[in-house]
Amino acid sequence: MEKPAIVIVDDIPQVRQKLENDLEQKYSDRFRIIAADAGQQALNQLKQMSLRNEPVALLLVDEQMPEMNGSEFLKEARALQPNAKRILLTTYADTHAAIQAINAALIDYYLMKPWDPPEERLYPVLDDLLSDWLVSYLPPFAELRVIGHRWSPRLHEILDFLARNQVPYRWLDIENSKEANQLLEQLGLGNTKEPLVIFPDGSYLVNPNELQIAEKINLKTHAEKPFYDLIIIGSGPAGLAAGVYGASEGLCTLLVEQVAPGGQAGTSSRIENYLGFPSGLSGGELARRAVAQVERFGAEIVTPQKAVRVQVDGQYRGVDLADGSELRCHALLLACGVSYCRLDVPGIDALTGCGVYYGASIAEAMACSNEDVYIVGGANSAGQAAIYFAKYARHVTMLVRADSLSKDMSKYLIDRIEHAGNIEVKTCTRVVAVHGKQHLESITIVNDKTHEEQTLPATALFIFIGTEPHTSWLQGVVKGDERGFVLTGPDLMRDGQPPKDWPLDREPFFLETSVPGIFAAGDVRHGSIKRVASGVGEGAMAVQFIHRYLG
Ligand SMILES: Cc1cc2nc3c(=O)[nH]c(=O)nc-3n(C[C@H](O)[C@H](O)[C@H](O)COP(=O)(O)OP(=O)(O)OC[C@H]3O[C@@H](n4cnc5c(N)ncnc54)[C@H](O)[C@@H]3O)c2cc1C
Repeated sequence: MEKPAIVIVDDIPQVRQKLENDLEQKYSDRFRIIAADAGQQALNQLKQMSLRNEPVALLLVDEQMPEMNGSEFLKEARALQPNAKRILLTTYADTHAAIQAINAALIDYYLMKPWDPPEERLYPVLDDLLSDWLVSYLPPFAELRVIGHRWSPRLHEILDFLARNQVPYRWLDIENSKEANQLLEQLGLGNTKEPLVIFPDGSYLVNPNELQIAEKINLKTHAEKPFYDLIIIGSGPAGLAAGVYGASEGLCTLLVEQVAPGGQAGTSSRIENYLGFPSGLSGGELARRAVAQVERFGAEIVTPQKAVRVQVDGQYRGVDLADGSELRCHALLLACGVSYCRLDVPGIDALTGCGVYYGASIAEAMACSNEDVYIVGGANSAGQAAIYFAKYARHVTMLVRADSLSKDMSKYLIDRIEHAGNIEVKTCTRVVAVHGKQHLESITIVNDKTHEEQTLPATALFIFIGTEPHTSWLQGVVKGDERGFVLTGPDLMRDGQPPKDWPLDREPFFLETSVPGIFAAGDVRHGSIKRVASGVGEGAMAVQFIHRYLG
């Protein structure tokens, strides 16, 4: 099989030659380096490659070219090779054009000429983008396949788990895939109703749980040691940032994660407001980078493992995990975030996972190709989902309780929604019932202004309303507010005094809970700002306070 290609386009022979040499030197063992001297010539080549099904990993093109400039080329190339990473090569004077191209041609990066030394100014960027590309690249015959019925809630959970752990897979719908039915016959499982996971080595599991899948795909499911300096519960942005700072500053650190690293951010299709990523990045990309960073500094991440109890034992803190293991540490950080509130309307429980979903993943977006999709909610997460679904679905309707989107949504998302063309926003509107036998068939909505009630055919409803903290498992060990968010530092003080049972002479540190040595960071904390950047900031800050506590 052909190696995936890296395509260079530059009309200046010396620049093209230098790029080709630099890329050959570093990547020729894994990629084919193809060079072209003009946009049109490269487009013709890409057309041929896409007909032959040859993978293209990356396009690296000079902005300044006669006839067709780099941004124009990348815009057209996107239609031919939508998954290839796109880099524009610019000079300082072209920076403005490059920033424009972030939106117009959806470029992934712009590199400045000259790029010497390549070890510092070229390879790190390319390494990053190529490893991103590899995550979603499915070489033929080395894929994980999942066979199941579209309306099976269990199938939905398995696909969500794989997607959030960034395991590429192919879903074969039992209803209409010939391949699925042939495979089931071959395996003697013709009558099975449950999802089947076939791993690249040919082994398979019928309706496996997440732990069984994790073990097959080599995730680390158990901690190596019984005792750590720092245990972090949750590996969303706050937990991952604490993992990076804790481990890099010499603390023996463990992260415990019940689903997949990335947390809520990992489910975001595009985060555009996180500093340092001008073209935005998907939550999956952010999580993958952060995990690599955490592990590089030597922290362990165990997943999927749920923390079920906090232990306070003299000067030691600890957690018990769902598998029965008991871990102890000097300091514990709660970074367990929040999840979507349930929508309480008749019919919803029976249809959850069969057309009604909380949040959304790539798997569902694909399954909704050319269908009409309804999204409940009017904040940023609902807006991002609407924009993402609009790429696949025929029509997206946002059902928003407020009288305008501007109450809870960032302006850049509102602008995108207005320009999408296939997104409709119904304000002052609530879902009051959902209907269907095997799966969602229709929804009833009401307009709070006109009181008009309508029942509309629907097969996909995605809910993004409010959040509640993951704190029920803490069983009151640390103090929380009336909604269950964890109180820390100044929020614990009443009339200048810490809580009565606070045992120390000093006041609780900022981000320290009502139990010394147990800290909280990110969305789970009372008063936190629900953003990736603030979660990351709090995770990093928490480690500073943990050092002071340990000192
Ligand atoms: C769809 C979507 C899009 C978003 N887009 C943006 C955006 O563009 N920009 C932005 O700034 N913010 C965005 N946000 C908000 C941002 O993602 C959150 O503020 C951020 O993820 C909070 O980080 P966190 O680490 O505090 O918690 P979370 O991300 O909620 O992570 C908590 C982690 O803890 C794990 N966990 C919980 N309980 C346990 C337990 N008992 N044992 C083990 N593990 C446990 C969870 O599985 C989860 O992985 C978005 C959120 C969503 C849902």
